[in-house]
Amino acid sequence: MERCPQCRGRIKDTVCARCGVELDQVLDIEHQAEVLVQNCIHNLLMSRNDKALALAIQAAKLRNTLFNQAIVDFIKRQGDVSI
Ligand SMILES: [Zn+2]
Repeated sequence: MERCPQCRGRIKDTVCARCGVELDQVLDIEHQAEVLVQNCIHNLLMSRNDKALALAIQAAKLRNTLFNQAIVDFIKRQGDVSI
């Protein structure tokens, strides 16, 4: 995250340089989503598509980015998932 979700100001460490809001919890959630995506890709490479899809969906719920949604769509298109 490069910009404050509240005011769009630049983020300095875990605090917004413009409005001063603490963003550590938001940054933690962003990190959790990144870890989920990494685990998702690992499971996808191991052909564990059901697990990969579950992780991708969790990541997209935490952080709904185009990339995270694209992974969900990609895995669903593989047609080898039961979720
Ligand atoms: Zn701000």
